[in-house]
Amino acid sequence: MKTSLIVYASALIFGSVGQASSQNLDFDNIEIYADQVAPHFYSLTASKNMDPLHPEGAGGRIGVYVGPDAIFVVDATYPRLYQKIIQAIRKISDKPIKYLANTHEHRDHVSGNVNFGKHGTTILARQEVREAMIKPQPPEDTVSSTDPARLPTITYGFGPPVKIWMAQETVQLIPLKKAHTDGDTMIKFDESNVIMVGDFYRNYGYPFIDLQEGGTVDGTIEALTVLEANSAPDTKLLPGHGDIVSREDLKFYRQIVLEVKQKVLDAVRAGKSKQDVLSAKLTAPYDSKVNGGLDLLPGGKATTADRFVAAVYDDLKRSTP
Ligand SMILES: [Zn+2]
Repeated sequence: MKTSLIVYASALIFGSVGQASSQNLDFDNIEIYADQVAPHFYSLTASKNMDPLHPEGAGGRIGVYVGPDAIFVVDATYPRLYQKIIQAIRKISDKPIKYLANTHEHRDHVSGNVNFGKHGTTILARQEVREAMIKPQPPEDTVSSTDPARLPTITYGFGPPVKIWMAQETVQLIPLKKAHTDGDTMIKFDESNVIMVGDFYRNYGYPFIDLQEGGTVDGTIEALTVLEANSAPDTKLLPGHGDIVSREDLKFYRQIVLEVKQKVLDAVRAGKSKQDVLSAKLTAPYDSKVNGGLDLLPGGKATTADRFVAAVYDDLKRSTP
């Protein structure tokens, strides 16, 4: 009871940010950009400064593997961008879009599933993603949140990677312990040497650990370890939000999470309140190096640094005797 109250209070302060509404975006003027990152792999991102939650690019990144006979897509952003996404994909290939995999359950990654599902694409995700999507959704997205075509039809739990053998590519769906949410998967394309990371790592704003959707600090740290272990120095890491990075870039992010966790833990043990901890501005040593870290979240009251520190506090508070 106590835990859920804390999490709920946090959601009230910081907004239900993962699940925030996308209904008011100017979809007609959002463009989709395709960047080739490997011979058969493309990153699709959307216009900057059009989505208050994602000024670095509206919605979430989409990954597109283009094989000789079929296409594999990762994440589906918002449903109203579907036609533009298909136009971008069709400039690259006319092959069928056989699979869509979701990195996690946030709406900026899954609400576009519905259109892919209706056109016969097989949707794969964690069981936790399917369960989260079945829960009642905000009313504005009625079609994308009630049509059965939106739901993953092949699901798996936290366990060994699920492998999909395409003609010239092995795709590994690597489940992660509760990190950004309780249903995170990173998706590795072995031959392309590309990993679609999801959102437990981001390089626009501070880490977002969504306690409401089952995320945890320790799971985030562990997910970073799994990502590092699966990456070679030249592997391209494509986060759900922000720039494409490499294994080396993870070090700074891991350092932030570890150091902030330790500082917050000390504060929790010393009996400090959440307000004390937020007022201490624990991220100050990193602020100048974290792009968008002090951007205000929709609502204008809290920064992504505040959201991060508050989540760490709430998570540690509920697990510290
Ligand atoms: Zn997310």
